[in-house]
Amino acid sequence: MPRTPRVAIVGGGIGGLAAALALERRGVETIVFEQAPTLSEIGAGLNLTPNAIKALRALGVEDQVTAVASGSDFLNIRSWKSGRYISRTRRGDFKEKFGAPNLSVHRADLLGVLAGALKTTDVRTGMRAVAIEGGAREAMVRFADGSAIEADIVVGADGIHSVVRKCLFGSDAPRFTGCICWRGMAPADAVPRDIAIADGAMWMGPHGHVVHYPVRRGELLNIVAHFDSAGWTEESWTRECDVSEPVTTYTRWHSDLTRIFPCSARWYKWALYDRDPLEKWSVGRATLLGDSAHAMLPYLGQGAAMAIEDACVLAAVVAKMPDDLDAALADYERVRAPRAKAAVFGSRARAKENHLASPWAQLKRNVKFALRQRFGAGGRKRDNTAFQVGWLYSYDVGKEVG
Ligand SMILES: Cc1cc2nc3c(=O)[nH]c(=O)nc-3n(C[C@H](O)[C@H](O)[C@H](O)COP(=O)(O)OP(=O)(O)OC[C@H]3O[C@@H](n4cnc5c(N)ncnc54)[C@H](O)[C@@H]3O)c2cc1C
Repeated sequence: MPRTPRVAIVGGGIGGLAAALALERRGVETIVFEQAPTLSEIGAGLNLTPNAIKALRALGVEDQVTAVASGSDFLNIRSWKSGRYISRTRRGDFKEKFGAPNLSVHRADLLGVLAGALKTTDVRTGMRAVAIEGGAREAMVRFADGSAIEADIVVGADGIHSVVRKCLFGSDAPRFTGCICWRGMAPADAVPRDIAIADGAMWMGPHGHVVHYPVRRGELLNIVAHFDSAGWTEESWTRECDVSEPVTTYTRWHSDLTRIFPCSARWYKWALYDRDPLEKWSVGRATLLGDSAHAMLPYLGQGAAMAIEDACVLAAVVAKMPDDLDAALADYERVRAPRAKAAVFGSRARAKENHLASPWAQLKRNVKFALRQRFGAGGRKRDNTAFQVGWLYSYDVGKEVG
């Protein structure tokens, strides 16, 4: 009888818990080590595109996520100054075309669903990994408290500033994109009634774009504002700032947008950095998952989606080849790396078009989006998403892993 592999996951965020759930559902013994004293998430929203919902379906938690998520009737792209609708996508279109809806969720609610679904996984909080060695037969994690553990596989799901990645591949060299973001979360009933907030909206203008969508079944409005600026270079998601920053930055934008900013009591800002995708994800029996493997710019809303897809594939290959974990990790990387890399490059490419400054270039882009949305892109009739991301949305990791 082959011995059941033991997998240690560093990081109890969305990717780490998704991996734990996928592994335990396939009968693999799993331990999660999270540095924070409790499993927790920042107070921000996540847009879950159809491929993310299909990955959650493969994990068996689609219904639980749907119960805490919000789905607007339309996803709109609007012009920064006039407020005109550049394109409107019906929610039903996503399900019809890609086999799952597009939903938005509070990050803490998604983490709660994943954590709540775990039955056998040992989750240890307050455990900060400081060193990892990827040996040929086992991998070892050392923790800040001086303890250490060995496992058949160690998975670094420890996010954008991954210690596991650093130990395996050295420090990365992120490039500042010249763009900063602000995020806020407003109670929906604090927003003036004449502003339409039930639908997801993306406002596009010179040097910036702003996204807002409902979360927690419409109780809250998540707001993320991006702008080209070199005025801030810290890559932290939890640095607070004053509401006057977004208010001043977008002062010339449509009032249906600018009147929303003061409705959030707290604002945070961070600088956006870009990283090249890694060529390899594993060293011996240590590997990476989620942002540690493929941190990407947020413009296609795929960071969490890719982490959940990674989780499904990792669990499937480990369960399929418990006697040959080297082959399992090679398969994991073979299946996941090309798709994750395409999402990294796709997000990078989108950055430029979102922030066009010249009115003529903006007009051309807006007409293109409207035409695509209405008629589909040439040759790809089904892909009538404004950003031509049907290749991302149509993927079903459940079909990939069986
Ligand atoms: C404001 C915001 C909005 C976003 N919007 C979207 C969106 O709409 N759609 C989308 O798909 N993606 C979105 N993303 C990206 C997405 O959130 C990330 O890609 C996703 O969280 C990656 O999951 P992860 O588990 O790899 O990393 P994380 O969620 O960062 O989790 C890493 C975990 O590891 C823990 N950890 C770190 N270091 C250690 C250590 N040394 N030892 C032990 N534990 C450690 C951390 O405490 C954390 O719990 C957004 C990101 C932000 C910040």
